[in-house]
Amino acid sequence: MPIQTVNPATGELIRSFPELTPDEIEEKLALAHRVAPVWRATPIEQRCEVVRRAGQILERRKQDYGRIMTLEMGKPIASAIAEAVKCATVCAYYAEHAPQFLADEPVAAKNERSFVAFEPLGVVLAVMPWNFPFWQVMRFAAPALCAGNVGLLKHASNVPECALALEQLFEEAGAPGGVFQTLLIGSGAVEGVLSDPRVAAATLTGSEGAGRSVASIAGQHIKKTVLELGGSDPFIVMPSADLDAAVQTAVTARTINNGQSCIAAKRFIVHDSIADRFIERFVERMRSLVVGDPMDEHTNIGPLATAQIRDDLHDQVLRSVNAGARLMLGGAPRGGAGYYYEPTVLADVPRHAAAMREETFGPVAAIARARDVDEAIAIANDTPFGLGAAAWTRDANEIERFARGLAAGCVFINGMVASDARFPFGGVKASGYGRELSGFGIREFVNIKSIRIFAER
Ligand code: NAP
Repeated sequence: MPIQTVNPATGELIRSFPELTPDEIEEKLALAHRVAPVWRATPIEQRCEVVRRAGQILERRKQDYGRIMTLEMGKPIASAIAEAVKCATVCAYYAEHAPQFLADEPVAAKNERSFVAFEPLGVVLAVMPWNFPFWQVMRFAAPALCAGNVGLLKHASNVPECALALEQLFEEAGAPGGVFQTLLIGSGAVEGVLSDPRVAAATLTGSEGAGRSVASIAGQHIKKTVLELGGSDPFIVMPSADLDAAVQTAVTARTINNGQSCIAAKRFIVHDSIADRFIERFVERMRSLVVGDPMDEHTNIGPLATAQIRDDLHDQVLRSVNAGARLMLGGAPRGGAGYYYEPTVLADVPRHAAAMREETFGPVAAIARARDVDEAIAIANDTPFGLGAAAWTRDANEIERFARGLAAGCVFINGMVASDARFPFGGVKASGYGRELSGFGIREFVNIKSIRIFAER
């Protein structure tokens, strides 16, 4: 993919960026390697202070950052501004808690002073996606930098302005040169960087294919990875649920970020006895969404990020209808400029259909029916993915069964799956491994070191 900013609302090419040459990549790697020991030796309170300042800048400039995100990938401007604010929150969170998360942990033992220490790994490569172009990066960078690691960002090729703004953010926050650098490179150059001995580890947020590729390169070189990959989250609705609240949340959960979120609810599994009412109300709400210019504050759904994503989504809808799904709403790209796709509802989608088996990245909802809790859980878990899951019910027994029975990194009961700095985030199965956020996230890229000092005999 060429590295360029294309406005997805119009299809207009705004700016192209040359890829870094091998010499330029080498310069950046050398700088990262040089600064890593300096940053590691900087007291954690000072490192946290840099991250805290980055958060303050994000809050102050949220409007500017929001506009860059919307211009490059098309999310509604209000969500883009909210994303900048959420990034500020994760900075404040780690600036406050990192010293305690990484404090030595004493281990009681006779005749020795023993403890576990948490030391940075060094240079960490972050391969990141365009869908939350600030948030995905910051939820890696804030804990990694607090922990004393140095970051190299290879961002998605369609969000170079976001990538450069993030590099500048850390510079302005007072990080020494090289502590956080953006590499404007294509995916083909990732192998060279990752296999370089100066790079200690990698984190990738993106598709399953990219995850497989990066993990296998890292495996060849025995380097730690965290993978945050795709999802096809179920959203289950049982008869005791507040149907109006469930429908309202279901529509938001499906269409947030123009439907391009890993934790968007993608498969709606509804109890037979309420399925017809659910479908009717769901279609009504989806129809009322405002699709249009993402820079307009009244827009609910902007364009998809690229023409390819729109075309892939349409192909999944056509294949699902061919497999027997009933098309209740939408089902086509919008004519005219930009990469818009109509809000789409598919009902009675068979389990083998594309919309149930694959990740749909856009405003397309697949609805299926279930006879009881067992069948709802079986359909929900019948997916290669396992990122998030939601279930709506007021029945205490059902709540317990869903909470424990759904195979995912998180389960939300009577709510919508969302990330939160205080809770670990990540998946099982093809959704990846490792965790971001909370105390678990900051310990992914550290050497968990046992230190045992024996009394002299
Ligand atoms: P993508 O195409 O996999 O790209 C993600 C990043 O990986 C980009 O920087 C991309 O670079 C790079 N890349 C792609 N193929 C690669 C390869 N073979 N080797 C090395 N790098 C490679 O994904 P996307 O379309 O940007 O993002 C959408 C996906 O991310 C969805 O599946 C979504 O569910 C997932 N996601 C997951 C989470 C989570 O936390 N689990 C969060 C957000 C998104 P180029 O742009 O240069 O190709």
